[in-house]
Amino acid sequence: MVQQSGSGRRAEIAGAGIGGLTVAAALAQRGWSVTVHERAPNLRTFGAGIYIWSNGLRVLKAIGAYDQATIGAHIGPVFHTRDHHDTTMEEIPINRPGGARLITILRETLINALVDACRRSGVDILTNSEAVGATPEGELLLADGSKRPADLVVGADGVNSQVRDSLDLMMYRKSLGYGAIRMLIARDDGDVCAGDRDRYIEYFTGTRRILYTPASATDLYVALCCASDDKQALQVPADRALWTQSFPHLAPLVARFGDAGRWDEFEVIKLKAWSKGRVAILGDAAHAMPPYLGQGGGCALMNGIGLAAAVADAPDVAQTLRDWEARERPMTEHTQDTAERLGDMNFWPDDVRSQVLKITGQCREIAMERMKTALHAPTATQAL
Ligand SMILES: Cc1cc2nc3c(=O)[nH]c(=O)nc-3n(C[C@H](O)[C@H](O)[C@H](O)COP(=O)(O)OP(=O)(O)OC[C@H]3O[C@@H](n4cnc5c(N)ncnc54)[C@H](O)[C@@H]3O)c2cc1C
Repeated sequence: MVQQSGSGRRAEIAGAGIGGLTVAAALAQRGWSVTVHERAPNLRTFGAGIYIWSNGLRVLKAIGAYDQATIGAHIGPVFHTRDHHDTTMEEIPINRPGGARLITILRETLINALVDACRRSGVDILTNSEAVGATPEGELLLADGSKRPADLVVGADGVNSQVRDSLDLMMYRKSLGYGAIRMLIARDDGDVCAGDRDRYIEYFTGTRRILYTPASATDLYVALCCASDDKQALQVPADRALWTQSFPHLAPLVARFGDAGRWDEFEVIKLKAWSKGRVAILGDAAHAMPPYLGQGGGCALMNGIGLAAAVADAPDVAQTLRDWEARERPMTEHTQDTAERLGDMNFWPDDVRSQVLKITGQCREIAMERMKTALHAPTATQAL
């Protein structure tokens, strides 16, 4: 972790998600007084797992959250994509010497580790505190009518960011017509064959996908993905008969689906600029993307620490925010654009998808494009 530079400056942050908590901890560790405003009544998140690649792990290490976040993590040996016959289309090696690292954990574990890193660093986190906007001069506006002046205001309040929209920063917001139900269930040896149990596997049939993700020794994270107009498939609780029909080879797993689950539609958000005056927009509020690379949270982590490192001792916050965007945005946009392209294959016929992925899965250049974000060294971090 960095040493405090004793700047004595103040930041007001909207949103206690991955982005808001990361920038909060990193700023406090640089001597800033930081308050995070979370609209929800508590800091709990919903039941799902999350993939964290090397780039995100480096950020967790830099802010002192790594050890706690990785306790009990699952470290898979490989990521497979499988076609409608359960034949492997691509085999993506991970966690090999010199390559990208990838772990999976519960979202709750990640948020708890970030919250604890914030608290150890002296961040004040207020729940039931809703932001409704901000001014370029550096005021966070709260739903209770109060105004919180600061040297830096951060809108890390997610896809429906009120801070962003109060500043008219949206360039476009695009729904991708596709989404996922996420759930957590207990792991069970009967779900898949013994050789597959510890793997990360994405199964495709028609326009539907099932993502199988061990997220700890006992937790299995399952994502059921389908088109937004596939109304029967996106029902929660999941329609077990329907999902078994699409994935008969996963019948034992589908039979164990719980009643809980949450549907989210995938979207892409791009802004005219990531800041206005003293206000920065961070995470999904600035650059939401579909989850095919497992890097939305990774980008929030990277841009959060990059933001703190940039403004730490900066004399001119507004200019520094423009420099921060110029430095970090190209990698984020590469990630967004690559992830969006990966979604195209959802609507290809099964046989075409299977043949294409078996060929492209052998191509080193394509693999490197996909791994570029994971292998990136984020600002203010060191190798693990
Ligand atoms: C199906 C799916 C799977 C994914 N899988 C992965 C993955 O494996 N790996 C990965 O890296 N990323 C993944 N992502 C993306 C990742 O979840 C997001 O990129 C990440 O959560 C963004 O963090 P954030 O802090 O920007 O926003 P959020 O997580 O949305 O946090 C925003 C916070 O702000 C609060 N808030 C909202 N409005 C206000 C307000 N007005 N005032 C105050 N507080 C407010 C919210 O309650 C919330 O706590 C996935 C996304 C989806 C949809």
